[in-house]
Amino acid sequence: MKKYSISSNNEKVQNSVNNCTEKIEEILDFFNIDNVNVTIKVLSYDAFKKEFKDYLNYDSNDCTAGFIEDDKNMIVVLDYDDYKYTNHHSKTYDDFIKTVIHEFVHVVHSIACKHRYPSDELWEGIAVYLSNQYDFEAKIGSGSYYEYGLNIYNYLKEHDKESLLSILNVDN
Ligand SMILES: [Zn+2]
Repeated sequence: MKKYSISSNNEKVQNSVNNCTEKIEEILDFFNIDNVNVTIKVLSYDAFKKEFKDYLNYDSNDCTAGFIEDDKNMIVVLDYDDYKYTNHHSKTYDDFIKTVIHEFVHVVHSIACKHRYPSDELWEGIAVYLSNQYDFEAKIGSGSYYEYGLNIYNYLKEHDKESLLSILNVDN
């Protein structure tokens, strides 16, 4: 029986995430995690940039729409209303929610791997893959994150989930 909670300071995001139960449970199942409390902090443009710099000690750029504070099981995302100030201006609200789910994968992965992070390729690849940010079946997408996700998709055609978990530094 899974016991998890996800709470946000933004009611619209809270409601949207409440509608993603199936996806959330799929991610928890994938990493064999059944008890986690995650917070989603939604911030306006300036507050997001400040939080990013305070936490990571370097400046975000206008490609950054989310990050995690892994010691707090916290997701920090740029408010969809402020996507217009960034490179994400043409993204839909659905894309925004996929970003939240992508960051959720990172939080759960950080717990499952006990903070022994794999390479960026694997770290981002699994987040892109599990959050359905691209259609790998139809081969629609481009860029490094797409390639990382596609690598996971192709890996799973020839290997089982257990061997994927082991390269993701998740032991059972
Ligand atoms: Zn990521």
